[in-house]
This record gives sequence, structure tokens and C-alpha cells, in this order.
Amino acid sequence: MAVNFNNYRQVQQQLEPYHARLVAVSKTKPVEDIRELYTAGQRIFGENYVQEMVEKAGLLPEDVQWHFIGHLQSNKVKYIAPFVSMIHGVDSLKLLSEISKQALKHKRVIDCLLQVHIATEETKFGLDETELFQLLDQAGSLSGIRITGLMGMASNTDDETQIRKEFAGLKILRDTIWEKYFPGTAFFKELSTGMSGDYKLALEEGSTLVRIGSLLFGARNYA
Ligand SMILES: *Cc1c(COP(=O)(O)O)cnc(C)c1O
Repeated sequence: MAVNFNNYRQVQQQLEPYHARLVAVSKTKPVEDIRELYTAGQRIFGENYVQEMVEKAGLLPEDVQWHFIGHLQSNKVKYIAPFVSMIHGVDSLKLLSEISKQALKHKRVIDCLLQVHIATEETKFGLDETELFQLLDQAGSLSGIRITGLMGMASNTDDETQIRKEFAGLKILRDTIWEKYFPGTAFFKELSTGMSGDYKLALEEGSTLVRIGSLLFGARNYA
């Protein structure tokens, strides 16, 4: 399956007026596909399996920015800590502490996004609002990490009003946190929202990082 460059260019054009960035979600896709998109100028790639990301990182240029977008287990942080540039799905102090510890070990700073549960489905990961503020209070003393914003996944529905409401709610939450913890700074501005099916809504609702896979690389086959 080859890369869909028409879609790639289209997505790029749609991002431009919003100054948002594209995380090309390459999970399950071969290294050759990533290389094709890399050659076209794409640098941020998203993966959600640790082993797969480690293997791919070893085969691709150093200036690829690897974003881990899946649910990360604390005991696996050590494998990606040497090179990962951003971790999108952080939802516990335990995980954040481990990222901090491993980042310091490698003399690095790893950007993290806190994942908030915004969907109606029960199954998805993420913090509720109370847990989010608790975690922010507890995380203040950790070094080796920077919490640069929030990440969320909207409900899996065709109801655009619902999706928009969930994205908008996350933006309000980010702005509230910014005002409380980082007023007047350029910090804590990231909003990782939007996938192939809902990224246009996400952009309209303030996304700064869209995570797009199937639109660029084709549908995924899970054996
Ligand atoms: C797979 C995945 C995506 C990309 O999904 P598409 O619908 O293929 O664009 C985005 N975010 C997360 C967290 C994912 O796991």
C-alpha cells in the first residue's frame, strides 16, 4: 500500500491557516511508506506500539520526530526514552514519574501531553477533570519532562455537533489550565485532537496537532 500524496498535500493545506502540525500516524505501516513521506518533507510520525516504534526509529533518519500516541505502560518507557520527542497519552502520575526518571537518565527533556477523557464511550483512556488538576498539581516538581498541553479522542460517532462539543470542551480546559498555571507565557498551548475522520472539526476547534493515519497511509489491516 502506497502513500496517498494527494491527501497529504490536502491535509497540509488545511493545516496551514491554523498553524497546526501533522502527526503522520504510521502504526502497522512499513518503513518504506514512512520513508516516502519523509522524502516529501514530513518529519513528525506517530506510533502506538513500543516495539514497533523502536524498530522503525532504528531504520529511519535521526531527525524524525517520534510521537508516541498510544497507551504507554510504565515498564516500557525505558525503550523509547532515548529518542521519543513527545508522548501524547499520559494519564497517571506513575507514568509521568517514570518518563521523568528515564528522561533524566538520558539527559533529555521529553514533552508530554495529558490525555483527557472527552468521549461518551467508557472504554477510552484518559483523565477526568478532577484527576487532571490533581495530576498537574503533583507533577510540578518533576524534571526531565515538560507538560505542553492536552490530548483527547472524540466519540466515535457521525454526530458532528457532539464531536465539536467534545473538542471545544478540551480547548476550554487547556485555556483554564494556561490561565491558572502559565499565564502570559507561550507554554501549554498544545491541543492534540483530530484523526482522519474528524480532523477538520478539530482544527476549527483549536487543534494544534492532528493525528492522521489512514487518510495518508490507507486503511490498516489488523491480523
Ligand atoms: C490510530 C490512531 C490515530 C489515527 O487514526 P486514523 O483514523 O487512521 O487517522 C490517531 N490517534 C490515535 C491515538 C491512534 O491510535
